[in-house]
Amino acid sequence: MKKIRLAVTGATGSVGGAVLDICARFPQFFEIRALAAKSNAKKLTELGRRHGAKLLCLTEPEDKNWREEGFTCLSGVNGLTEMVEEPSVDHAVFASSGVAAIKALQKALMRGIDVSLANKESIVVAGPWVMPLIKRADQLRPVDSEHSAVWQCLRDAPKEEVSRIWLTASGGPFRDYSAAQMEGVTPEAALNHPVWKMGPKITVDSATLMNKGIECIEAMQLFGLPAERVGALIHPRSQVHGMAEFIDGTVRLLLSQADMRLPAAAAIAWPRRLPLAENALPPIEPKDWDLCFREIDEKLFPCFALAREAGRLGGAYPALLVGADESAVRHFLNHEISYRAIAEIISEVLEACGEKTPQTLEEAVALVETGEKMADKICRDRRNR
Ligand code: NDP
Ligand code: MG
Repeated sequence: MKKIRLAVTGATGSVGGAVLDICARFPQFFEIRALAAKSNAKKLTELGRRHGAKLLCLTEPEDKNWREEGFTCLSGVNGLTEMVEEPSVDHAVFASSGVAAIKALQKALMRGIDVSLANKESIVVAGPWVMPLIKRADQLRPVDSEHSAVWQCLRDAPKEEVSRIWLTASGGPFRDYSAAQMEGVTPEAALNHPVWKMGPKITVDSATLMNKGIECIEAMQLFGLPAERVGALIHPRSQVHGMAEFIDGTVRLLLSQADMRLPAAAAIAWPRRLPLAENALPPIEPKDWDLCFREIDEKLFPCFALAREAGRLGGAYPALLVGADESAVRHFLNHEISYRAIAEIISEVLEACGEKTPQTLEEAVALVETGEKMADKICRDRRNR
């Protein structure tokens, strides 16, 4: 069988690591051709040598003349586009954070190669411009664990038979906190996620449940469903990751260990299932299966409520939300604003400039920066008060 030749953006990150782990375990199926990151040249080169990549790309190298012996080296955001246009690449994995890879994502879909997508920001901001580029069923495979679960539950299901889909949330470290306890939350506490080991930004988003709200918008885009048919539930044991509910009232759910290597493998190996249960990831024993779910309290988790509203309103709101959240979380992690201020600042940004509906992809991407800059300014003003 011909090997799948991959290009991985975000190779130095947490999801990128999960993808590379799967590729290293199954060298008979996968070949790493190209790896990309933002600026971490040392780690990217190390990974390039370990996985036998031929091409490396840094979008923002510290040294403008950055080169590595033995590799074709590209730089800048255009480097990502060139990377996915390489004739020797037949599957692009997008596991970088932020919106830098949007153009490359579009290019990969237009070229017709398979795409595995972990990067939720790009689909939330650019979904209306990206989704129409899909050429065939399953060309775009979700890697975000909840979306991967829903995608797998929806396999072979006619769209008209699907009534709702559900995403689960562990609820993060503060799921049992009262409103009073939420007041004193520190960055260190927010970074202590009970289940998933992830990058700092998404870990804070998981604590505020902004991540779940953003994931609801991501699901609306990926599965072409309106907000009222995309639900989210707290499921503290994080065994069930997503569900699909059908018009006869039956529900399919996906239950597995909480490990990003599973959705990564499902995406890059599709339609094959890899034998991960044999060694790396033993299955959860049936006696331990847990099916307890509860609703999300939007008062306790205002970031979730803001994202749900942004998803319902559409237009400029999702892009502004992504930008404002990026800024607010950064200021929170730097101990410059309180936990409660994250939602307050995002809400201020949405209220101030939500009405400008973007007409083009470029305008949508620019709105992320608008949201970020406006939130930065609000944070600065608050500090100076
Ligand atoms: P990390 O912070 O661990 O890693 C981010 C990666 O993206 C790094 O490789 C970084 O490179 C790269 N990167 C950041 N900015 C750019 C840029 N401008 N151009 C090119 N590369 C860039 O993030 P995660 O792995 O946690 O998350 C990655 C994406 O996957 C995010 O969109 C996140 O929402 C999503 N996701 C993450 C999950 C998780 O479990 N972590 C689960 C589901 C989705 P460098 O090292 O050089 O900075
Ligand atoms: Mg997720």
